[in-house]
Amino acid sequence: MINLLDLLPSEARTRLVEFFAAAAEPAYRANQVVRRLWQNPAPDFQSMTELPLRLRAALAAEFELPRLGIAARQRSADGTEKFLFRLHDGEAIETVAIPDGDRLTLCISSQAGCALQCAFCATGAMGFSRNLTVSEIAGQVREMRLLDPPIAVTNIVFMGMGEPLMNWKAVDPTLTILNDPSGFGIGARHITISTVGVLPGIIALGERPEQFRLAISIHAPSDGLRRELMPINTKYPLADVIEAAKVFDRRVTFEYVMLGGVNDGEEHAIQLAQLARECRAFVNLIPLHPGGARGFSPTSDQRIRAFARELRGNGVEVAIRKSRGVDIAAACGQLRVERLGRRPPRGPEHDGDIQVA
Ligand code: SAH
Repeated sequence: MINLLDLLPSEARTRLVEFFAAAAEPAYRANQVVRRLWQNPAPDFQSMTELPLRLRAALAAEFELPRLGIAARQRSADGTEKFLFRLHDGEAIETVAIPDGDRLTLCISSQAGCALQCAFCATGAMGFSRNLTVSEIAGQVREMRLLDPPIAVTNIVFMGMGEPLMNWKAVDPTLTILNDPSGFGIGARHITISTVGVLPGIIALGERPEQFRLAISIHAPSDGLRRELMPINTKYPLADVIEAAKVFDRRVTFEYVMLGGVNDGEEHAIQLAQLARECRAFVNLIPLHPGGARGFSPTSDQRIRAFARELRGNGVEVAIRKSRGVDIAAACGQLRVERLGRRPPRGPEHDGDIQVA
């Protein structure tokens, strides 16, 4: 069985053209099916009523269109919704839908769990289970279109569970599916990949011709502090990450989570401003969500605003991110699937290493 949802739209079309040719059917049938993968998704072949019944049955014998099962759906007072998807092997992932005026941003997961163990992140505390496949990542968007009523997604952020650039093998084709007009047709500038700074992945992303956006989780302006907060800094130190941001051909965003008394002093603002100026980065200050952040406390709103002014005074463009979905534990860094008989966390050495195709 061929899973059509693991293929690029162009590859799926090729397979389907072959299939219909062998069945002595006209080639336009392939385009009919391709449209029902992502653009106007069908839950299964049976529902493709524009095709004769015998063709639907023949397709179902050869191809599959796996669904992601929704195990739970929660709605926040601010309209944010969190979905828990159960995967075929029992793993679970979360996806968050964030409405904002006429935009709807979907925050998607790229791995089940995460190997990186950032000190303040709930997903990191779960440990790493496995990489998601193309159909599991793009499927999160597809499932939104299959809801009744459907959720129309306008923007995508890879800020759910996992480190997208440690699963480049699947994220790379997923970006094509999201952006391609015969996939979801979401503009590249409306798709943001957030990373701790996985260098080979940043280079691979930069080599793509589309204007996908890059956000880098900086969180500390010096190696000493960053290492304490983000163990990955040992492998990809700050100077190298800044250099990668400098040569990236589009403007980068720095994410900076505000940790009370840890990284929120004026001296940190001055150092951060220096780094941001070096690569012309825009800085996004993120209020800490205490969910998984053992031992950390949030910076006060007043201090966050002062920190923002210090950055601005040092020539840096800055925004303070609004917290959304806090009441349903759907905010940044709060995604953590509770599971029975939790396994001990596995370290980064088990993540299959960085996969850059
Ligand atoms: N692995 C990627 C993407 C997932 S996390 C990355 O680290 O960038 C998305 C963002 O949420 C990151 O900037 C992450 O550092 C931040 N985050 C993690 N835990 C958080 C918390 N408790 N409060 C606020 N932001 C958090």
